[in-house]
Amino acid sequence: MTKYKLEYIWLDGYKPVPNLRGKTQIKEFDAFPTLEQLPLWGFDGSSTLQAEGHSSDCVLKPVACYPDGARTNGVLVMCEVMMPDGVTPHATNKRATILDDPGAWFGFEQEYFMYKDGRPLGFPTAGYPAPQGPYYTGVGYSNVGSVAREIVEKHLDLCLAAGINHEGINAEVAKGQWEFQIFGKGSKKAADEMWMARYLLQRLTESYGIDIEYHCKPLGDTDWNGSGMHANFSTEYMRTVGGKAYFEAMMKAFGENWKEHIDVYGPDNDKRLTGKHETAPWNKFSYGVADRGASIRVPHSFVKGDAYKGYLEDRRPNSQGDPYAIASQILKTIASVPTSAKSAAA
Ligand code: ADP
Ligand code: MN
Ligand code: MN
Ligand code: MN
Repeated sequence: MTKYKLEYIWLDGYKPVPNLRGKTQIKEFDAFPTLEQLPLWGFDGSSTLQAEGHSSDCVLKPVACYPDGARTNGVLVMCEVMMPDGVTPHATNKRATILDDPGAWFGFEQEYFMYKDGRPLGFPTAGYPAPQGPYYTGVGYSNVGSVAREIVEKHLDLCLAAGINHEGINAEVAKGQWEFQIFGKGSKKAADEMWMARYLLQRLTESYGIDIEYHCKPLGDTDWNGSGMHANFSTEYMRTVGGKAYFEAMMKAFGENWKEHIDVYGPDNDKRLTGKHETAPWNKFSYGVADRGASIRVPHSFVKGDAYKGYLEDRRPNSQGDPYAIASQILKTIASVPTSAKSAAA
């Protein structure tokens, strides 16, 4: 028997966006535990805005587990928050609202800033560094500084050790701004892995005295880019049948539900989706082929040969958005597309 360090990780009840929380328990297993072997656990919901003081226990239900590359015999346990009965999802549990669909695939592109001493890493104590231009995909000390690359590399290795489907890294347009991508097959997988990847990034940067700033426009109304979390998505039907009629019906549904989407695409998005810096205005839904100034970008590969088949990119979700809430709303809108649009396409 080996003693494993189980880190139970969950989302609290803070609004407009939840924070990650985690605590450790030690348990003995013959080998690295399976999800089924991991017990329910509890926590004090009154400290996380998930319960009132007098009856404050909430239940943690493990939903995914990963090897923890930073800890000997460590297990990262992603949990859903449940009511005391252990079966009713807590009101703050957005994962439980995602339609179960093994054929749904998501790819999230997480942009973020590293912050030290209250400003983006590499910014001078007063004023600004040289304007945007050389930083995006840049190399060299004056472009990326001296520790950022070490951090993103370590983060990548932690994600890979965990079995998270991290797909890539790039330095972003603003100084101190970076991106990584996570792709997953199944309606909840990429969102689970995105939350776990965020956890690993925040934990890793503690010892550097660096915070991860997820706000979508931390430098306000300046010439410094904001941060997004583009959501690339496809369903099995979109990938295998598709068709122009179905695509148009889908875009109609996205247009009609634009407000429901913006409501869960992260706070302060009106400050980022201004129509500038490769964004579409937050309150006006649009789509276009290869158009990075549209709400939804339709890749060339999608329209190729008039097939209208493959994946689409919703560019509106921001860096602070909850991937559970985002995936949930996208699948809800797709599910609302009339089936008649499908028969018309077939
Ligand atoms: P860009 O920055 O040009 O928008 P990225 O390479 O950063 O492109 O991100 C593209 C994302 O699309 C990746 O996360 C990728 O996994 C995802 N993706 C690719 N194919 C599909 C698909 N069929 N369904 C859902 N997501 C997909
Ligand atoms: Mn990208
Ligand atoms: Mn980007
Ligand atoms: Mn993108």
